[in-house]
Amino acid sequence: MKKTVTFKDGTMVDLDTTHEWKNLKVIEMDMPVKGMCCKWGKDSGEYRIFIDSALPDQEKLETFIHEMIHLYRGDLEKQGESVQKIETECHHITQEVLRSIGI
Ligand SMILES: [Zn+2]
Repeated sequence: MKKTVTFKDGTMVDLDTTHEWKNLKVIEMDMPVKGMCCKWGKDSGEYRIFIDSALPDQEKLETFIHEMIHLYRGDLEKQGESVQKIETECHHITQEVLRSIGI
């Protein structure tokens, strides 16, 4: 049986269809920060998101969204921009996303 989701506008999405984006893998492990994302290998085109396995589920989700926003905005490729500015923007967008999906 196929799992599908139908949106208000009638758009139907097949949940069995998987999409690969940035060749991404998410790894939970014991780490000193909540999360991080990085390119995996110099020219592999692969990315990894690491999430601290000790976090409660809610914080894991928040951290995952935060790191996804970094990847989506191309923050890893930005050069010469202040890390603090990037983190502040990412934090605000994460809060907006969490609000918009009611979390
Ligand atoms: Zn960040």
